[in-house]
Amino acid sequence: MTNFSRRDFMKVSATAAAAAGFPAIALGGGKKVVVVGGGTGGATAAKYIRKLDPSVEVTLIEQNKNYFTCYMSNEVLGGDRKMDDIKHGYEGLKKHGVRVVIDTVTGIDPQAKKITTKGGDTFTYDRAVLSPGIDFKWEGIEGYDAKVAEKIPHAWKAGPQTALLRKQLEAMKDGGTVIIAPPTNPFRCPPGPYERASQIAMYLQAKKPKSKIIILDRKPKFSKQGLFVQGWKDLYGYGTANSLIEWHGSTKASSNGVAEVDAAGMTVTTDSLNTVKGDVLNVIPAQKAGKVAFMAGVNENDWCPVNKKTFESTKQKGIHVIGDASIASKMPKSGYSANSQAKVCAAAVVGMLNGKEDGGTPSYVNTCYSIVGKDYGISVAAVYRLNEEKNLIGKVKGSGGLTPMDASAEARRREVEYAYSWYNNITADIFG
Ligand SMILES: Cc1cc2nc3c(=O)[nH]c(=O)nc-3n(C[C@H](O)[C@H](O)[C@H](O)COP(=O)(O)OP(=O)(O)OC[C@H]3O[C@@H](n4cnc5c(N)ncnc54)[C@H](O)[C@@H]3O)c2cc1C
Repeated sequence: MTNFSRRDFMKVSATAAAAAGFPAIALGGGKKVVVVGGGTGGATAAKYIRKLDPSVEVTLIEQNKNYFTCYMSNEVLGGDRKMDDIKHGYEGLKKHGVRVVIDTVTGIDPQAKKITTKGGDTFTYDRAVLSPGIDFKWEGIEGYDAKVAEKIPHAWKAGPQTALLRKQLEAMKDGGTVIIAPPTNPFRCPPGPYERASQIAMYLQAKKPKSKIIILDRKPKFSKQGLFVQGWKDLYGYGTANSLIEWHGSTKASSNGVAEVDAAGMTVTTDSLNTVKGDVLNVIPAQKAGKVAFMAGVNENDWCPVNKKTFESTKQKGIHVIGDASIASKMPKSGYSANSQAKVCAAAVVGMLNGKEDGGTPSYVNTCYSIVGKDYGISVAAVYRLNEEKNLIGKVKGSGGLTPMDASAEARRREVEYAYSWYNNITADIFG
């Protein structure tokens, strides 16, 4: 089977830290690290820096009092979870001695090593870790911006956007049309839009079976496509006249990507000039690193190049960038990737603060589960290792893989269980 238990994952992470020669006991003193963004990457980094060296003063600046995970947010849309089930606070991190500041970062001065906030505070650091997640390239779709997204949600940052989309699905009539417009690569969570379509289909099948989901994609293919299509055929009549899901990919000759949104008329128009009317529109724009990265000048175009051994920015010394905002190819932009990168980064930061620069070759891990329907889960997994010469994170040959196409019903049911236990374990690891 292709899945990794948390124990396997911890082994890999521990190996990475041990191989790096970084001790897990107090060293030195008086060193300050400021972590910006208390999401998956940032919260993990803050906690693990404290665990590796409790003498380091770690301040985490996060703009929201609570964090809603994007992972399992599609299950909120499908109705199997409530918003409270994906909500996490910062009490656990405080117990590890992380100073948690709820405020919005408005400026970063890499020369003076200072970070300023909307609340008027200034924080100095020896090293900063940025994990600001993503922002949207609104300019790519005419008629769609942050304001319009309050009516037509992207729901690609979990929280009020997720709740709004769920509310609209609940309010939709039986026989309605849901349009999902996934973005171009690279974007946060490559299988996410297709898991979303599956979860919404599960809900519609049970409550509004005359309805339809139309996916208007900018891409000719997508992550775990074979497995998703198989699941859609097994569960939702995909490929038949009565299918709950239609997927329209793009080719060079004809692009089905959404070019324009008419919020008043509830229509989208594709690059090929087809106008489609929906009852619920879910438009997910193309993405770039979170704004904080641009403030710090650690970006190169849309994303942030880093030394993949330490996650230190190649643009600004003393600043590390992890998670979705970083260029950590060939790892996908996922929560598990962000969590794994955060641990490698935490070990490197502690080492660097203590004058131990060479920490060995790190390994990283990622698994992405998708719940296609009731008792029907699929996954993709890999262990990665750094090729230091090329500064490239490559898959370890023979590690991981995809759920087999001929997996038994029992194996698919177990994948759902694994997904749930993965969720409990990773959120405990990040916030506990
Ligand atoms: C629908 C969906 C499903 C997904 N499913 C999975 C899955 O099954 N498995 C998986 O591994 N991944 C999944 N992901 C991807 C995962 O959520 C992201 O890859 C992960 O959250 C990235 O972590 P991050 O730390 O880079 O960013 P985030 O987790 O987004 O954290 C960024 C944090 O920075 C804060 N911030 C930003 N700017 C500021 C500022 N100026 N001041 C203060 N704070 C700031 C934000 O409030 C946020 O808390 C999914 C994503 C989506 C959208």
